[in-house]
Amino acid sequence: MVKRNSIYIQGIIHGRIVKILKKHNTIKFRITLQNLNFKKQKWLQKMKKLGFEEIEEILDRILQKCVICPHKCRVNRKEGEKGFCKAGYKPVISSAMPHHGEEPPISGSRGSGTIFFTYCNMKCVYCQNYQISQEYEGEETSIFSLADIMLRLQSIGCHNINLVSPTIWIPQIVKALLIARKRGLSVPIVYNTGGYDSPQIIKMLDGLIDIYMPDARYSSNIMAEKYSMVKDYVKYNRESLKEMYRQVEGLKLDENGVAKKGLLIRLLVMPDNISGTKETLNFIKNELSTDVYLSIMAQYYPIYKAKNYPELNRRLKVQEYLEIVNYAEKLGFSYGWTQDYIGLNSEDLFIPDFRKRKVFKYYEDKSKADMD
Ligand code: SF4
Repeated sequence: MVKRNSIYIQGIIHGRIVKILKKHNTIKFRITLQNLNFKKQKWLQKMKKLGFEEIEEILDRILQKCVICPHKCRVNRKEGEKGFCKAGYKPVISSAMPHHGEEPPISGSRGSGTIFFTYCNMKCVYCQNYQISQEYEGEETSIFSLADIMLRLQSIGCHNINLVSPTIWIPQIVKALLIARKRGLSVPIVYNTGGYDSPQIIKMLDGLIDIYMPDARYSSNIMAEKYSMVKDYVKYNRESLKEMYRQVEGLKLDENGVAKKGLLIRLLVMPDNISGTKETLNFIKNELSTDVYLSIMAQYYPIYKAKNYPELNRRLKVQEYLEIVNYAEKLGFSYGWTQDYIGLNSEDLFIPDFRKRKVFKYYEDKSKADMD
């Protein structure tokens, strides 16, 4: 039985997709438990040593001529000017909750403390989170409240703080993080990005982010510009992935299989080879390592403006998905997760609705409780 609150197949575990994959003789994905000795990080000491306060100041200054992401709009967000992303200075959040639908080492048993940020630097025509990324659903908050939210998510048992679409809010997040750390925040911080990041800015996060969970969405700049309105995605994405890997290397799990540190790359397979996932896999193998954990996702669903693009206006075919999983295995990747393709056919089960208290249909009615 596939658990309804988990759409991921954990290595050679239960589920219909496993049967399909076994039939095609493909699945060898497995999870290694690396019993690393994770000492509680001495954050205050580390901050002093690495000068996190200075980094905080530099990042804050960058907002006066914003080049936080590759769009490089050079607007003064501190004075209310708006660039491509439309974000201002104060952080805007749509929801915060324990999320049980992320990859197993991120969700764990108690959920991932997920903070969904409003606005985004990508305008994907198929965005599942379009209500917050492009219709700007959310509430303005303060840096101190953001720190409080992080601490509250930790206090209810979440395994980590999972920052969704953090790129454009990096300076504000760093400020909040430093406040929260001083007040006892100790769980890992997850940087959950669409992958259009500036490698120079990512460099500044060294020591602040524990787990990087970027998408590698495209291997063609033409596709990236057409469907997500971003220029030179491939260059920025790949340089950022390299920097993330340099900082944290492969994913390390504790004895319970919960992630503590490392890089996990998400590959959303799209119809008609729009994502060019095979090329991305070649890049990861050649420039990073086949030891990188992958999450190969079948959950593409034609939502938002995707209906205006016939090539995008359908679900992924099982064969398209299996081709990618087979290819990953052929290249020698052995760590990661696939998704229950058949389970994902349950219409919009996994499409969030940020206008409702219950953001995901498969959750109990408690999704947004932690924002109150
Ligand atoms: S964060 Fe927003 S304003 Fe700044 S460069 Fe990126 S898109 Fe432009």
